[in-house]
Amino acid sequence: MAEIQQIGVIGAGQMGNGIAHVFGAAGCDVFLNDIDEARIAAALETVEKNLSRQVSRGDLAPEDAADALARIKPTPALSGLADCDLIIESASEIFDLKKEIFEALIKVAKPEAIMASNTSSMSITALAAATDRPERFIGIHFMNPAPVMRLVEVIRGIATSKETFDATKAVIERLGKTMAVSEDFPAFIVNRVLMPMINEAIYTLYEGVGSVEAIDTGLKLGANHPMGPLALADFVGLDTCLAIMQVLYEGLADSKYRPCPLLVKYVEAGWLGRKTGRGFYDYSGETPAPTR
Ligand code: NAD
Repeated sequence: MAEIQQIGVIGAGQMGNGIAHVFGAAGCDVFLNDIDEARIAAALETVEKNLSRQVSRGDLAPEDAADALARIKPTPALSGLADCDLIIESASEIFDLKKEIFEALIKVAKPEAIMASNTSSMSITALAAATDRPERFIGIHFMNPAPVMRLVEVIRGIATSKETFDATKAVIERLGKTMAVSEDFPAFIVNRVLMPMINEAIYTLYEGVGSVEAIDTGLKLGANHPMGPLALADFVGLDTCLAIMQVLYEGLADSKYRPCPLLVKYVEAGWLGRKTGRGFYDYSGETPAPTR
């Protein structure tokens, strides 16, 4: 398989900007797509800010930061991904939306391109089945924030070929990340363990066992977690947390994964965490303030 150099990223949200950042910094050409052009512009601003932070910490030379940014091309039309060797979908965690994206993508992508999803929870086999190339389809699950977190989870669908897996492994090595391989089960490894803990923290709040502050301080200082579970839920995005719990609940058919009604209520209210300025904390002031 030819070397992967041109990368398409679909979805320029929290994860898409980070994925574009790491590939740009690794010397790849990145074509960044989103249905909403304003999100592409916002993503580029975020990448610029995060690259400058790496420069000010002495982790990156200023000219390398400028090169990385210049390699990321805003690509509002899907047809702009026609020459990409690897295309990573990182749009919202909604199965039908992702399926529609892949159905449109197969009409423009070159036949030899590898397609991947950054889904946190959904069946790679089912997404692959929406394409014309299940053997060249794979799950590449980055952690948030992608430029900082060292792990990438890799998930083979039932039809994923060895060549696709080997090419993916080489790409992840090039990014300087460590790979963990998961079988294609709901929410894979990291979120199978992490998300029920976050959901349980929300139940703990819902049942009045503790306040937002007590729960987060408890887990930070009592279990040595770098971030409390409610702050982490806000960081991930409450819509994404709920979508992952629903995939676990339905996919494993076990009531222990039922999403907390309070999580459902927050999502109904549009309180999705940091990305909307309000979740379990209010982010409008200097420091985040608990909302309950
Ligand atoms: P986000 O809400 O920040 O961004 C989603 C982006 O998708 C938005 O910019 C939206 O405009 C775009 N989009 C929606 N429909 C589209 C379409 N048809 N074509 C192109 N773009 C479209 O969400 P996020 O946190 O970046 O999550 C994206 C994906 O990454 C999800 O699958 C999520 O499960 C996964 N993920 C999230 C995290 C996390 O911590 N947030 C971590 C790992 C993986």
